[in-house]
This record gives sequence, C-alpha cells and structure tokens, in this order.
Amino acid sequence: MNNMDLLVSLSKRRGFVFQSSEIYGGTGSCWDYGPLGVELKNNIKRVWWRDFVQARADMVGIDASILMHPTVWKASGHLDHFTDPMVDCRECKHRFRADHLDALAWVHYCPATKGNKFTIPAGEPCGHCGQRRTLCPNCGKGELTPPRQFNLMFKTFMGPVEEEAALTYLRPETAQAMFVNFDNVLQSMRLKLPFGIAQAGRSFRNEITPGNFIFRTREFEQMEIEYFVNPNDRVEGRPADEYWHDRWIEDCLAWFRRYGLREENLRLREHERDELAHYAKRTVDIEYNFPIGWSELMGIANRTDFDLKQHAKWSGKSLTYFDEDRKEHVVPYVVEPAAGVDRALLAFMADAYREEEVRGEKRVLLRLHPELAPVKVAVLPLLKKRDDIVRAAQAVRADLAKHWRVVYDDTAAIGRLYRRQDEVGTPYCVTVDVQTVGDGERGETGDGRVTIRERDSMEQIRVLVAELAGVFRELLAGAAWPSVAGRYPPARG
Ligand SMILES: [Zn+2]
Ligand SMILES: [Zn+2]
Repeated sequence: MNNMDLLVSLSKRRGFVFQSSEIYGGTGSCWDYGPLGVELKNNIKRVWWRDFVQARADMVGIDASILMHPTVWKASGHLDHFTDPMVDCRECKHRFRADHLDALAWVHYCPATKGNKFTIPAGEPCGHCGQRRTLCPNCGKGELTPPRQFNLMFKTFMGPVEEEAALTYLRPETAQAMFVNFDNVLQSMRLKLPFGIAQAGRSFRNEITPGNFIFRTREFEQMEIEYFVNPNDRVEGRPADEYWHDRWIEDCLAWFRRYGLREENLRLREHERDELAHYAKRTVDIEYNFPIGWSELMGIANRTDFDLKQHAKWSGKSLTYFDEDRKEHVVPYVVEPAAGVDRALLAFMADAYREEEVRGEKRVLLRLHPELAPVKVAVLPLLKKRDDIVRAAQAVRADLAKHWRVVYDDTAAIGRLYRRQDEVGTPYCVTVDVQTVGDGERGETGDGRVTIRERDSMEQIRVLVAELAGVFRELLAGAAWPSVAGRYPPARG
C-alpha cells in the first residue's frame, strides 16, 4: 500500500474520515469527518484562529453567509472567468480537464502489434509505434470533443421559484465576503491600516476531476485572511504590500512547522508571470510533499486593489480608507493568505504517520502535535474486573475531561489499548492499576499514583492523581516531556 492508501484505510478504520453516503455507494469526492476527524479538524481551525486572529492586534474575524448576492460573482470575475476547459469522450463519455489530459496514463491499441492493448505512462509515446495520445486516455478508442469552458460554481435558486431571477451560487471562496464587508468592519471596529479580516468556512467548487481523497473535493473548508495595507506606505524601505506579503509567507510557513510539518516536506513556489491571475502582483504557494507528490498546501497572493475596486464599481459604494497623514482616500492593497482546512488536515496526518518496530512488533503511530491530537489523554484501567480500579479510572477521566478531550477505554488488554491510542495520535495515556487503589481485602492502601505514558518515547512515570491536571496543563501547553518527566519516578514498563 502506498502512503495515501494507508491514510485512507486508517481514516476509515479509526473514525477520522468516511466516504459520504457510503451505504448508498458514496457521492463523488465528498467525505464525512468522523468522531476523531471532527476533533482534529476543529483543533486545526482553533489554533489557526487563535494564532492568526486572537493573538494579533491587527486582525479581526467574520463569519459570513455562504449564499451571497449574485452580483458579487460578476464583480469578482468568477461568473466570467472561474472556468476550466473540459473535454468529453464521444465513446465512453468520460469527462476530462483538457489541461490535465497529458498528466494521465493512457490506453493505446497499438497498430504495430496487431492492435494489442497497452497502458502507457502519462506524457510518453508508445514504445512500439512511437505514436502519442490523440484519443480518449480512458478507453483508447473515443475521439475527444473540442474543449468547452465549464464554470466551477454550483448554481442554486434562492426562494421558492426556479427561474433566472432567483439564480445564485454557493460561494467558491470565502474571500469575497471580506471584501464586501470591508467598510462594515472598518467602521464598526475603527481600524487603522494595516489590518486583516479572517474567516474560516465552507466553499464549493464543481471540480471536473476531483480526487486524491480529501485533497481535491467539491465541498471543502477554507481558512482565509484578507490583509489590507496602504499602498502608499513604506516599511523598511519597501512598499508596504510587498513587505507584508513576505511577512505573511514567513508567518504561514512557521505556523505549519510549529504544528509538526517537517522542514523537508515544505517548500515555496513562486508563480511564474504567465500563471499569475490578471489582478495579482505576486503569488507564492506553500507546497507540501503529499503522498501524491509536491502540491499546493496554501497560496499567499498580493491581489492589489483589484477586489475593492471591482466591488466599488459594481455596488456603487465607496470602498476606500481615509489616510489621515496624507489627507486622502486610498483603496487598500490586499495580501491574501488562503489555506484549505482539509488539505492541512491531510498534510498533518501524512507527516505524523509513522511505522516503527518495537520488540519485534510493528507499531503504527500518528505523531500529531498535542494541540492537534483529537484526544489528549486516554485513561485505561489495568484490570477491568476490579471495580475499584474501574471507578478510579472513570473518576480520573471525568476530572481531566473538564479541561480536555479525554477518553476511557477498557475494551482490550493494556498493550492493545496503547497501540490503539498510538494509532490515532493520543499523546498521553494514564493507567490506573493495583498500586493506585491498593488491595482492600489484604488491608493494603494504594499510593494514589497512576502511570503516565508518553506516545513517542513510550516512557512512563508515576504521578499522584491529585497532580495529574497540573502535569497535563504543563505538557499540553507545550512543555517538553523530559523536563516534566524528570521530576517524577519512572514506572516499571
Ligand atoms: Zn503503439
Ligand atoms: Zn473514452
């Protein structure tokens, strides 16, 4: 199995991601987040919001509706330009993105070998006859239609009538809500440039060829920031928009590293002049080495004043900022760091996935950052037949669960319980055993200590139940395991 198959399998088996409507055969490219997936996804959004909105004095957030005035999409250019060229096979009716055809392996009935069927790697000619692909890559027989432009926005109707006047769209990006609310936010919050508006929410794109698990889907979640700067300002001798663009690239890259993506799996890619959107001054992608290869994790674009000017033109409302120093109205420039939540989740899972050998046995673990891990602590009783141990373990769970996502599990032997928690990335397990509660029949009292096991090192320490919450507060706030573990006696492993 390749890495992507391993992740898909783990995701289903352990409740991270399920295929949508699976009992009906599934729906194309839609996925449902299960009990652990929703925790992981919420954690990603929570730390993003905390780090980029709450912690910064220059940021505010909004949560806009998905259905917007249809003219928004005229002004933004999506109605006219948000299209992909599409071709159809006249034989098998398969549909392709015209610009992706040469990235597909192709079926070929070779005239040089009495019409034998071959599947030839993407972009390569036939090794026997030297032909290149001209027909449908899927069936190898059908002619392809000329390319037609296909708009990627989902259409829908607002209200009870299905007529042109009620036609609207599911938003294909969250960004436009920040532009159309620019003046509302500016006035209500009395902001000074530079400042940014952030939003996390769902977007929809009717992709011709979705795929690769949750990498490209038709319904997805975005975390976007529109950062407005005064184009007349200079920072450190450079135009403010260029300075802030670089700052955001650094900040976003640092954020992904901070939550666990390894340096060697991240790189920047500068968009070439000819691939830049017509309004963009410069765009840089942060790429991640996904199981499918290097692909875009997020993009950071300098969109200039294009969007605000377009919305001012189509709405007839002024969308400017009054520059007190120069006594003039300016249209701010916008730097847009835009990330996909689902893609970030896939990257965090892919990077965290490890297989190790421990005492001759395979151990699968997700080395997720504790802040992202769906479950922070699992409480496990060593003997589930002892009522006093079970009661003590459940009390520990209930106490810790006031602060974090904590689970109790007694459905297997301890070794197996540890492996289950390793596989879903739980950073700490707590075991309650005979020493904890003592043995009443023999008149032995317990020591009130439990074992904490750390996921990555598998080291174990003994800690008083009364001190547990304090210890986890330290650990889950980012304290290094050795610095905390050094203060406590080790447990016999
Ligand atoms: Zn051939
Ligand atoms: Zn075909």
